[in-house]
Amino acid sequence: MPYRAPAADYQFLFDYVVGFDNVAATERFEEATPDMVSAILEEAARMSNEVLAPLNRNGDLHPARLENGVVRTSPGFGDGYRAIADGGWIGMAASPEYGGMGLPFSIQNAVNEMMGGSCLALQLNPLMSQGQIEALDHHASDAIKDLYLPKLISGEWCGTMNLTEPQAGSDVGALKSKAVDNGDGTYAISGQKIFISWADNDFSENVCHLVLARLPDSVPGTKGISLFMVPKLIPDENGKPGVANTLKVVSLEHKMGLHGSPTAVMQYDGATGWLVGKPNGGMAAMFTMMNNARVGVGGQGIAVAEAAYQHALAYAQERKQGKAAQGETILGHADVRRMLAQMKADVFVARAIAAACAAAIDMQTATGAPEWTARAALLTPIAKAFGTDTGIDVAQQGIQVHGGMGFIEETGAAQFLRDVRVTAIYEGTNGIQAMDLVARKMMDGGEAAYALIDEIEAYAETCKATIPNLAGPVFTAAETLRETTEWLVEQDMNDRFAGAVPYLRLFARVLGAYYHLCAANASGLDSARGRLAKVYILRLLPEHVGLAVHARLGASDLYALCDEDLSA
Ligand SMILES: Cc1cc2nc3c(=O)[nH]c(=O)nc-3n(C[C@H](O)[C@H](O)[C@H](O)COP(=O)(O)OP(=O)(O)OC[C@H]3O[C@@H](n4cnc5c(N)ncnc54)[C@H](O)[C@@H]3O)c2cc1C
Repeated sequence: MPYRAPAADYQFLFDYVVGFDNVAATERFEEATPDMVSAILEEAARMSNEVLAPLNRNGDLHPARLENGVVRTSPGFGDGYRAIADGGWIGMAASPEYGGMGLPFSIQNAVNEMMGGSCLALQLNPLMSQGQIEALDHHASDAIKDLYLPKLISGEWCGTMNLTEPQAGSDVGALKSKAVDNGDGTYAISGQKIFISWADNDFSENVCHLVLARLPDSVPGTKGISLFMVPKLIPDENGKPGVANTLKVVSLEHKMGLHGSPTAVMQYDGATGWLVGKPNGGMAAMFTMMNNARVGVGGQGIAVAEAAYQHALAYAQERKQGKAAQGETILGHADVRRMLAQMKADVFVARAIAAACAAAIDMQTATGAPEWTARAALLTPIAKAFGTDTGIDVAQQGIQVHGGMGFIEETGAAQFLRDVRVTAIYEGTNGIQAMDLVARKMMDGGEAAYALIDEIEAYAETCKATIPNLAGPVFTAAETLRETTEWLVEQDMNDRFAGAVPYLRLFARVLGAYYHLCAANASGLDSARGRLAKVYILRLLPEHVGLAVHARLGASDLYALCDEDLSA
């Protein structure tokens, strides 16, 4: 069955679950009327289904390759990219001053998921540009904005992000690339960057690299890092790509998946760059890009989960094996139905968390209210980690539904798992996301978390009269989350870190219950959404009990199992 982008699911989330009406009611986003939103979702779904989805297999079978220093992209990717750029999908949320549409991030997030579900490797390219647009908009000088933003927004030029070096992965502060002031407003950038996504292509006029590097007098660690715009071709006085900069793609990685996206080792040899933001202010600027990209990468996980689910369902509707309790196909077996039901229930949760996070980002943009800033900050690591974990879980369940054919490449089930696996690693590993949640996002003593838990409990309370069987367990789980949070904020950092991953998953499980409850309440128990909510709350929510126990164990037993024990 060909991929069908989930436009209707987003419409439902906007209308009944994540409070998009609040976003549309702000002056900033007053143009996002219901008619306009549904027209955009429909058009994005059409492009994803008809133009991008047919390219997905090409990327896997014919990876991007390096030919005499030039990256050659997978067949059809150039046309697919142009459809994305010409449709205005790159600059959806960007400022109209520079050619963007100024739409809510919520819409961009929805469209990105649809493009990712149809062809993840290609979608990573505009995702990088969107992050760069956001970083430049917030931190660059007017001259840089005027030159680069219109080109990035139109898609004539692409953007990349260059943080990682061999010795500096999760620990970005260990990076060594250097920047020396040329005394003419430019800097000479030197160093090697690794794992750079879409470092080059054969379909855009220029590639703009945002590079983190150190000025000569900088302090060690993240406080001594600055951000630079380093274009592949240096724009001439008319803004046209001119002479080649002194940078090159050294090699492309051979990867487990995501083959259509070139992942490069980059060498900068005194390349000409322009400072973005303040000297030594690079991390702040890069964080703007990363926060946007973290929600975007969470959306990549959801995208693949949706596609893998659809694929598995279609197979289960065809494959006959044994005598099923219902119908003719394996879909009638209880265990196959359990797998598909859980996959569908978790896709809903991951998508709802991401949509709620995107709505909070929009409210932050529109109102500047600190409670929305705190809500967006709290939800971002959960959206990233749970979205990508769900991508992996659902893709691997999808293989299981296929049986032996899932292990055979021609069904396409395995590609989903190979492609999505990296999303839990890049843009900050999911372990780092969980640590961010229990450390930086709890610097308020848990205030933002408690505000959300209060909201969940109040909502569950109102549903107790109408749907007590579902509302009761949601309230109880929210109480467990509150108690675990109260325990957590009292612990020292390493004890928090030891339970960070189960704590993040606990949070996601409870959020999922809340959003399913909203869906059941809106649609009625005797509806597809109501029945799915029941499956989630009865079967998946109970996992929260074990997660809460795990989150509260602290680190001592992990270190009691000493280095020698691990090697014994
Ligand atoms: C396909 C692909 C595309 C990528 N694209 C880009 C890109 O476009 N630009 C870019 O700059 N980078 C990119 N990356 C790099 C990516 O962001 C890093 O791989 C990632 O941040 C992890 O860094 P690392 O690989 O050095 O792993 P490490 O940091 O060595 O981590 C190894 C393990 O240790 C854990 N760990 C590390 N530090 C800590 C800590 N303090 N506490 C607890 N656990 C810790 C990690 O969670 C992980 O499990 C890409 C990577 C890949 C594979």
